[in-house]
Amino acid sequence: MSPIDLSGKKGVVFGVANQRSIAWSIADALAGAGAELAFTYLGERLKAGVEKTISGLGAPLLLECDATDDAQVKNVYDQAAARLGKIDIVVHCIAFAARDDLGGDFSATNRDGFRTALEASAYTLIPVTSLAVPHMPEEGGAVVALTFDAANRVYPGYNIMGTAKAALENEVSQLANEFGPRNVRVNAISAGPLATLSARSIPGFNTMRHAFESRSPLKRNVTHEEVANTALFLLSDMSSGITGAVIPVDAGYTTIGI
Ligand code: NAD
Repeated sequence: MSPIDLSGKKGVVFGVANQRSIAWSIADALAGAGAELAFTYLGERLKAGVEKTISGLGAPLLLECDATDDAQVKNVYDQAAARLGKIDIVVHCIAFAARDDLGGDFSATNRDGFRTALEASAYTLIPVTSLAVPHMPEEGGAVVALTFDAANRVYPGYNIMGTAKAALENEVSQLANEFGPRNVRVNAISAGPLATLSARSIPGFNTMRHAFESRSPLKRNVTHEEVANTALFLLSDMSSGITGAVIPVDAGYTTIGI
């Protein structure tokens, strides 16, 4: 049984692609705590996999959404609010960069690749947050996004995604400030490397896993469940005093200098 009670809470989860998605681990934890959820998927190609992934939750609302299109994000919230009544919780687990812009020289990033990665991976947090707020109850709500330490340091291969994560983390602060008076909290989790569909397309991903395992204080990689449990905390009233924060869930890796 979940140590946190989210019964009566409603949420929208962006970013489930399959059972390995961090978004799914978070959704599973939220549902286990009693939250009722709606989901989005990106494109027909992923639909069947997402349907299968979420099938254990009954028949939750599942909507197609390319989050780079504000009209589609708005439609998700309108339909989710019509089904669920209100939205207390939002999970942003969205990232994308063109394969050519991962690996190789960072300076080879072209304008199109920059735009694509920043728009999908960073810009989307703005509409995903701001378009949810009108559907949140008087008492407020909570948003969680996923980031990586490449926002602050160089992880060769992660390239333009590091730039996107730096932008995303700055947005977390600014959105937290803007929506704080409405009691809407916005936080991010900086997760250690987890084997997912997106992660596997990053050259050097296995090197990252090995580095975290050998050099972190806990001498291992984190698990999906550890990231999900932190999201559960950040999306519950247990974290009511926390907003604008980037919480590392990384086995302590980023605390080590040398
Ligand atoms: P994933 O591939 O399972 O999830 C990424 C999701 O982003 C997919 O569901 C994809 O459909 C969605 N997406 C991409 N572009 C989109 C768009 N335009 N509109 C809507 N959805 C879109 O991989 P994941 O590792 O679970 O990634 C989730 C989040 O976690 C990402 O922000 C990622 O950067 C972050 N993260 C991952 C790791 C890791 O090691 N896996 C570590 C730290 C942070």
